[in-house]
Amino acid sequence: KIVVIGSSNVDLIMKMDHLPEKGETVTDADFFQVYGGKGANQAVAAARAGGNVAFVSSVGEDAYTPQMLKNYKNDSIDTRFVFKEVGIASGHALIMIGDQGDNYLSVAPGANYNLTPERIDEALPVLEKAGIIVMQYEIPEETIKHVIDLSNARNIPVLMNFAPARQFDFSYIPKIDILVLNEVEAGFLAGMQVKNEQDAEKAAVKLIEQGVVKVIITLGAQGAFMLTNDQKIAVPAFKVDAVDTTAAGDTFCGAFAVANAEGMIPADALRFASAAAALSVTQMGAQPSAPTRTEIDKFLKR
Ligand code: ADP
Repeated sequence: KIVVIGSSNVDLIMKMDHLPEKGETVTDADFFQVYGGKGANQAVAAARAGGNVAFVSSVGEDAYTPQMLKNYKNDSIDTRFVFKEVGIASGHALIMIGDQGDNYLSVAPGANYNLTPERIDEALPVLEKAGIIVMQYEIPEETIKHVIDLSNARNIPVLMNFAPARQFDFSYIPKIDILVLNEVEAGFLAGMQVKNEQDAEKAAVKLIEQGVVKVIITLGAQGAFMLTNDQKIAVPAFKVDAVDTTAAGDTFCGAFAVANAEGMIPADALRFASAAAALSVTQMGAQPSAPTRTEIDKFLKR
């Protein structure tokens, strides 16, 4: 079983011809409401990619949340440990997008910060059945640390997508088995500038030296590579017409977790994850764009 522990968000998106100045009202915007949150995106991506997925998350009480839960169930995700927090809204993201793709973005974590270590203890029955645990960083730091401690004690591998990059107790980094990072996150964790693949490799080497078993760095349209103690495996990105790269990293992580759980060799797992991510950028939206297993297999056989 793949256990994803992380955020659930409601994304409210306005597209407009220019972003407002302070105090300005921009009229004639287009509105879209989609479901996001890195945790939820990765759970959905993993489930569609063929994984047996349980999702551990905290949601709130608001008009959008019932549909959010229905969506998880439609993707056959085990939601027994999606906690319904009382008197608070689910996480929300307010996103304004201008015509150049420039944006304003603010996130209210809402119920996501109610996913405390105590909640994790309540979810132990499913955690203990995990073949792999997948996390991101939109939930409290003490929760992440608690999950890492519990998993280490039980020899359950942890895949951590350290996103978004923000302050963390770095003594916990070496306790992570698989770290998945984009260039910004790799630079943040390694304490250096990462502008290209060479820099990214230096950052990965630093993290491996600290004790991380596998570091995967995604490089957008340049592909991705995985570094371990004794090897580097690189995969180019598949050439597709990119429409919306939101959640490309989330789809990559979800699909990689599935490949890993199925025991694919690393090169195949990276190729599988890249194919899923490439397919996701050809569609709008975070969760709606995650491809199914059938779509991924067909794409790989082209
Ligand atoms: P994030 O969304 O976390 O910043 P990246 O932008 O690095 O992550 O993308 C993650 C993965 O998605 C890449 O390694 C690649 O496999 C795939 N991907 C991203 N952008 C494209 C693109 N334009 N074309 C094809 N694949 C892409």
